[in-house]
Amino acid sequence: MAATKPLSPHRPRIDSPVRARCFCCSPPRSMIERAAADKNPLQTVRDANKVGLRLSDFQPRSMLRARLTRIERPRFPVIDVHTHLSWMSRTRNGVSVGEDMTWFATPDDLLPVMEHRGIRTMVNLTGGIGSGLEAAIARFDRVAPGRFLTMTEPSFEYVAESDYPQRQADALAHAKRAGACGLKLLKTLGLYLRERVDEGARLTIDDARFDSMWATCADLGLPIFIHSADPAAFFLPTDRHNERYEELAHHPDWSFHGEGFPSYDELIAARDRVIARHPRTTFVLMHVGSQAEDLDAISACLDRFPNVHVDISARVGELGRQPRASRRFFERHQDRILFGTDAVPAPWGDEVPQQLFGDALYEIYYRFLETEDEYFDYAPADIPPQGRWSIYGIGLPDAILRKVYHDNAARLLGLSA
Ligand SMILES: [Zn+2]
Repeated sequence: MAATKPLSPHRPRIDSPVRARCFCCSPPRSMIERAAADKNPLQTVRDANKVGLRLSDFQPRSMLRARLTRIERPRFPVIDVHTHLSWMSRTRNGVSVGEDMTWFATPDDLLPVMEHRGIRTMVNLTGGIGSGLEAAIARFDRVAPGRFLTMTEPSFEYVAESDYPQRQADALAHAKRAGACGLKLLKTLGLYLRERVDEGARLTIDDARFDSMWATCADLGLPIFIHSADPAAFFLPTDRHNERYEELAHHPDWSFHGEGFPSYDELIAARDRVIARHPRTTFVLMHVGSQAEDLDAISACLDRFPNVHVDISARVGELGRQPRASRRFFERHQDRILFGTDAVPAPWGDEVPQQLFGDALYEIYYRFLETEDEYFDYAPADIPPQGRWSIYGIGLPDAILRKVYHDNAARLLGLSA
């Protein structure tokens, strides 16, 4: 009978308290000692100096060795349908009024980035009204034909006048003659606009006085680019459960929680009633219809209304954190999704990095749409500005990319292929 080989003196004995544990994550010495005394083996002493880090100082760096694919140029030319190159200078209670314009850039400021990043055309949504609109078109569209398009805006300051519907229709006809390519509505309607702009009852999106505006746009072939509501979290208390807490802390005026505001659901329902009443009018719902957090809901809206499109501006953060649902959404609605960024040039865009016009912003959108890279920033910023998460690319095939980058917008805006 062979002699039993003695156990190595270095091997832990079977009854050792350490034996049952994993050796790769060796427990602190104090724990081993405590274990012997039958205490919780995972209990350890907190470092009092490390538990008080403020959220605003926390900038973790991912240790993932994830692939980084740089997409400096998109696979097809891009039409960015959502940019802000100008703004109406005067506002009352958040509502733009008057014809004076503030300019955010010149074509020369923008064209180099457009060349680097393969952007064929930028659509300036906030082109103003009347002489301001004419000046915007002269400044951009006429100086670099084909590279810039301009939209007009509503003349809300006349809304309390009895002839407002006709005045609005006339303003739209003027805008069409001047060269505007559509009508843009800011979230103003539904959230801020009151009977006499800053006084009186708040007007709903489906107020009957706007019916002639929606109908006239159909008559003139002007698509309506409308921003209604905002991220769902902006309608909740800014408290520790709010996933956009830091964003709302930086921009408290973006919170629409409480008495003074309609609910998120009321705004979406009013918007949908307008769309249902005006089937001849083309509506493009900005920011995935403010429903990027609920792709089933916006998908149902697209299914219900054939006259609806969406843009993806300022929502790659939302789309990219649900890459599988997003990919299905793009596949299903590939003919009705438009590329847009909500770009604003510096210094106006400095406070909103997810919209700051520049090379870095476009690279993020292209990476999201074209690659299957994992866990990357959705905005060029140290701290994710819309919420603390990262995104994943959805690797769209060429046939869908071409539509989203270019063809859907070209068809809608009447541009050549
Ligand atoms: Zn915008």
